[in-house]
Amino acid sequence: MVPSRLEILGCPLDRVTMAQTLDILRGYLKTDKFHLVVTIGSEMIVRAQTDHEFREAVRGAALVVPDSIGAVLAARYGGYPLRERVTGVELTQKLAQQLGPSLRIFLLGGAPGVAETAAHKLLNLGPGVHIAGTHDGYFKDDAEMVARVKASGANVLLTALGFPRQELWLTRYGAACGVQVGIGVGGTFDVLAGRVQRAPQIFQNLGLEWFYRLALQPSRWRRMMALPKFALRVLVGGKRAVRPMANP
Ligand code: UDP
Repeated sequence: MVPSRLEILGCPLDRVTMAQTLDILRGYLKTDKFHLVVTIGSEMIVRAQTDHEFREAVRGAALVVPDSIGAVLAARYGGYPLRERVTGVELTQKLAQQLGPSLRIFLLGGAPGVAETAAHKLLNLGPGVHIAGTHDGYFKDDAEMVARVKASGANVLLTALGFPRQELWLTRYGAACGVQVGIGVGGTFDVLAGRVQRAPQIFQNLGLEWFYRLALQPSRWRRMMALPKFALRVLVGGKRAVRPMANP
């Protein structure tokens, strides 16, 4: 049972901590249904405002966790503070550490070789983790990939295909893949594989992780334009922009 769900600019956001998220995932793994988990950030919320298909995918998710500082600040501004961020990187690591033996993970995404390296890192993190399979994110044939994931016997599918593709792919094919949990994890494999540095803790604590990433990868500036847009829309929207939402 999800504690309580907010709506930020039309996108759901569940007010969960990392510990609650792991408990919820434990529950999902005991079912025979597919559950989409979205790790949401400000850029995704801005995208969802104009991308109907993406918005419906996020609204249809079983769980939407607060990945970015923007989501945390918006919730606080609306009067519904969150206890912490639940980022894709940390969720993936904690999954391996705490749910190890009940996992058969398929890692789908990243440049060739990245998912394999990330998988090795996960094996070292969590005793008993089973890697069902890996594949890069530059495949063409969706049906073939679905068959591959299904044949692997995975129960958790991590997609690192960038948004909105990773969430849309899970929405379309997650159930057919036979997994109980599908999580869109963005650049997580790159971080696990050591290809991209996460911001030092001090930047994370100050809510400036976005700034650090921009400094390292200036080519992201166009994407970053979503951040002031997000802030402005939340500020202008006030109580209508951030409000409680009925649980699905
Ligand atoms: N990616 C992929 N297939 C694609 C496009 C992107 O596998 O068609 C991967 C890309 O290699 C990267 C990840 O998706 O590993 C997206 O990373 P990004 O830093 O954009 O994610 P963020 O965490 O910022 O959403």
